[in-house]
Amino acid sequence: MNQQQTSTADVLIVGAGPVGLTLAMDLASRGVSVLIAETRRRGEPPSVKCNHVAARTMEQFRRLGVAQKVRQAGLPEDYPNDVVFRTSFTGQELTRIPIPCRRDRFSAEGGPDTWWPTPEPPHRINQIYLEPILLEHAAALPGVSLLDRTQITGFTQDADGVVASALRLEDGHRFEIRCRYLVGCDGGSSTVRKAMGAKLEGTPVIQRVQSTYIRAPGLRERVPGAPAWSCYAVNPRRCGTVFAIDGQERWLVHNHLNPDESDFESIDRDHSIREILGVGPDFEYEVISKDDWVGRRLVADQFRQGRVVLAGDAAHLWVPYAGYGMNAGIADAINLGWLLGARLQGWADEPVLDAYALERQPITEQVSRFAMDHAQKMIRARSAVPPDIEAPGPHGEALRARLGQEAYELNVQQFCCAGLTFGYFYAGSPLIVSDGEAPPPYAMGSFTASTVPGCRAPHFWLEDGRSVYDAFGPGYTLLRSHRAVDIEPLLRAARQAGMPLTVIDVVAAQLPDGYRHPLVLCRTDQHVAWRGERLPEDTGALVARLCGRAHARVPEVVSG
Ligand SMILES: Cc1cc2nc3c(=O)[nH]c(=O)nc-3n(C[C@H](O)[C@H](O)[C@H](O)COP(=O)(O)OP(=O)(O)OC[C@H]3O[C@@H](n4cnc5c(N)ncnc54)[C@H](O)[C@@H]3O)c2cc1C
Repeated sequence: MNQQQTSTADVLIVGAGPVGLTLAMDLASRGVSVLIAETRRRGEPPSVKCNHVAARTMEQFRRLGVAQKVRQAGLPEDYPNDVVFRTSFTGQELTRIPIPCRRDRFSAEGGPDTWWPTPEPPHRINQIYLEPILLEHAAALPGVSLLDRTQITGFTQDADGVVASALRLEDGHRFEIRCRYLVGCDGGSSTVRKAMGAKLEGTPVIQRVQSTYIRAPGLRERVPGAPAWSCYAVNPRRCGTVFAIDGQERWLVHNHLNPDESDFESIDRDHSIREILGVGPDFEYEVISKDDWVGRRLVADQFRQGRVVLAGDAAHLWVPYAGYGMNAGIADAINLGWLLGARLQGWADEPVLDAYALERQPITEQVSRFAMDHAQKMIRARSAVPPDIEAPGPHGEALRARLGQEAYELNVQQFCCAGLTFGYFYAGSPLIVSDGEAPPPYAMGSFTASTVPGCRAPHFWLEDGRSVYDAFGPGYTLLRSHRAVDIEPLLRAARQAGMPLTVIDVVAAQLPDGYRHPLVLCRTDQHVAWRGERLPEDTGALVARLCGRAHARVPEVVSG
């Protein structure tokens, strides 16, 4: 066997899925050299999975310069992104959650997510269209190299770095990759997680879904009323979900198996699809692919071991309710990107990396439980569909109106999940300086914007029309709303520590609710790290804390 040491990089990313690619873009923006190893062939599409790209993810894509390309792809620009509930795909409509098409995404008003305080509202696009855009963008960045058809089979690490074992799948050539850090973004069956000895813990089976990607010309014409991005078919025979993939003739059909149906193969796929679509045996469609899956709630017991870190599905798996699998993984990548960047640029100490697991693991636990609770409510609702839901006349109409209202109330919070998107906060992190105020609680569908340290800095537009996030620097950013407040000691301390610090003087009158302090110090991932009426006495200690010198004394709380 031919073994030779070939490649080196600051960071080796295992897996070019959406999480690995986002991490590569973030690291490249910080001048970090990145190698991505991916078993797939360049251009080989992923399976047809994710459809919802959260506003928070789009905010990060904007920072990384790829948001516009993503926004221009997906469904046709005038195709409604609505979610409907019908007795079948072609049956009677029970309710509709209105979500603007991409043409109207920035101008629509009055919808359940049109009020969101963000420069980048959510976007619906399937992963088969999203990933090639991310791949092309990442691969073109200086410092990023992609090794396709390359499988990482294991690694060893010591105090200085990691050596990964790689296998070139085309010819069986084995070689080593030396890096300073290795990040496993290698999905649910992660080799890196197993090699680390980390264990997934939680609920291994919540539901089973028989999933079929079909081409069905003529189906769209059979739908009564306006089309929708997602349609829930609710009837006593077969409940399922149909997602529009190209807005024309390609659809993803999820057949939600009942709790007592534990064997995918024992369920008649074709019959189920016809019940969900509401079409007879004469209707013709073609199966493009099948990808049955089990909804779980599993979170790794460790996210990091020394120089090896897990992100995305490698670290956590759950039912894709609220569309928050990939989005949570991308939030991992964004969190890790700036921490690794700070460490590799040399202005942060090694303990800065402790913040990753301390911040992301609790959030992951919370989100996974939101998703599981929602899944269980949906399972209960499916098993209670009245047998006469399709009945004609006033009785059937009243039944459908009641079910429609219940479906709306239950589901608007997952499809317009403001809380999951904007409400999570990093309490208990060594990099966040608490001032004693508790972050506001959030639910799946609601949140309160806040500058409590750990929360996402509430978004606002600057006088010159830019998003405040567009003006953020590559390290920390200080928002100052009273120019009279002296910030020179902080600037000096940051310079001495080599910590990048950008100052934005903002007009107090333009600040949205949540901003009460003249000084709000934010991280590059837009979370608040510290705030105050004036600087603490010991700005050196504050800077040391922000640079991951974990034992630095916490600066005193300054108020009034
Ligand atoms: C039906 C369905 C719908 C979903 N909808 C949504 C949604 O709307 N929104 C959302 O946020 N999430 C959704 N998800 C979840 C989402 O698809 C995943 O969370 C997401 O793909 C995870 O991305 P990742 O990059 O972590 O892993 P993956 O996408 O699994 O990518 C891992 C990559 O690593 C590569 N790889 C694996 N092992 C190795 C190795 N040893 N060496 C080299 N390369 C390797 C693989 O080839 C793959 O390309 C959905 C999931 C399903 C099943």
